[in-house]
Amino acid sequence: MSDLLTSDAELQELRTRLQAGSWRHVVILTGAGISVASGLPTYRGPGGLWTRPGMEEVPNAAMFAREPSRLWSLFSPLRGHARAANPNAAHLALAAWEARRPEGQSFTLLTQNVDGLHLRAGSRDVVELHGSLLRTRCGSPDCTLSAFEDLSEHAQAPACGRCGQPLRPDITLFDEPLPVDAEWAAKKALRECDLFLAIGTSGTVAPAANFVRGARYAGAWTLLVNLTPMQPRHPDFDVEILGRAEHLLSVLLGE
Ligand SMILES: [Zn+2]
Repeated sequence: MSDLLTSDAELQELRTRLQAGSWRHVVILTGAGISVASGLPTYRGPGGLWTRPGMEEVPNAAMFAREPSRLWSLFSPLRGHARAANPNAAHLALAAWEARRPEGQSFTLLTQNVDGLHLRAGSRDVVELHGSLLRTRCGSPDCTLSAFEDLSEHAQAPACGRCGQPLRPDITLFDEPLPVDAEWAAKKALRECDLFLAIGTSGTVAPAANFVRGARYAGAWTLLVNLTPMQPRHPDFDVEILGRAEHLLSVLLGE
């Protein structure tokens, strides 16, 4: 493993360029790898929650329509884990970097994670592409009830106070498209982006693979920070930095 790690000298060079302060539109994309040091499991991929033995069915829209309480039985414990977890050094480094960005620089943090840890770390401009475990919304698309913060671990699907339909966690299920406003915000940020940094996500599958293509089209410098190398390597990433996010981001982005 150690021969895959990016060397200290290389990291210092990258740090100097990242911290040059001349970036106008910074876009960050984070995935499950950034929350591993906070003790949260990954959901997909090898060893992920939804690929373990006994998970005969991934949570999707059909499951919610048929058996909303089953969806809650899967997500309530995850809500409990997310509540109990704390942001780690990687979340904190991103929040601190955003806080001290130069005037005129825009900063957009796109996250695939539903654990709410970026917001708890103090990041401000966060687009939750897959929603949040810490919010609940009505399952009816026609209902006017807004999503609301909800830290309760429901054993049964609660009923909407407005329309009576079952409530659901405010997250994007497997077969559902990204929320329209999140997708729009991501596309807008990528169109203007001159620095794109993906962290803790595979560089070769959606959405990272599509987002890096968009950033590259806009002319951005593109970097991936991940524990394992891209296989195959995505041609639109300029730099691949291998190692643990909580260590690397402190070095690259820290004061
Ligand atoms: Zn409702």
